[in-house]
Amino acid sequence: MTLEQELSQAIRDVPDFPKKGIVFKDITTLLQNPAAFGKAVDALYRRYKNEKIDAVVCVEARGFIFGAVLAYKLKAGLVLVRKKGKLPAKTHSVTYSLEYGSDTLEVHRDALSRGGRVLIVDDVLATGGTISAVCRMLKKFKAKICGVAFLIELEFLHGRKKLKQYPVFSLLRY
Ligand code: AMP
Repeated sequence: MTLEQELSQAIRDVPDFPKKGIVFKDITTLLQNPAAFGKAVDALYRRYKNEKIDAVVCVEARGFIFGAVLAYKLKAGLVLVRKKGKLPAKTHSVTYSLEYGSDTLEVHRDALSRGGRVLIVDDVLATGGTISAVCRMLKKFKAKICGVAFLIELEFLHGRKKLKQYPVFSLLRY
């Protein structure tokens, strides 16, 4: 069995969640499976181990899981992007539109150093709205975005188009 097949089998499809017509890629079953979780992290690590990453930026909430283990393995710092109002010190923020309404994400102003090499990590690339907003927010730091990595890419939503300027990598594509 290939790595893709093994990881794919460990992910559960939940139809009509959070609303009718959406097939939700549930990674909790992969996280519960030590072999699959380990292989997913190892594959992401292999892709970036020679990229001299200084900081891994990850997005609340499922992005934190992969971001934290990757930062540990890459010996990089971990930077949390959180929903508005959760971070205690001074922040930069970005507001982006959702299907209905908008959302705001924040990051601490002292989270990244100028010129630092950054890897952004999240679980799923869907429309790309979230991560392209994160990239916009990170411009304030003048850091170098060396990669944007996902466990899963939903290719039919063309999220990659919104991230054209950056090297995008995904382990599984649907
Ligand atoms: P995006 O449309 O790329 O901004 O997606 C935003 C976030 O929604 C991603 O980080 C995912 O965690 C989540 N998401 C979107 N679509 C799905 C899906 N079909 N299954 C699981 N998570 C999803």
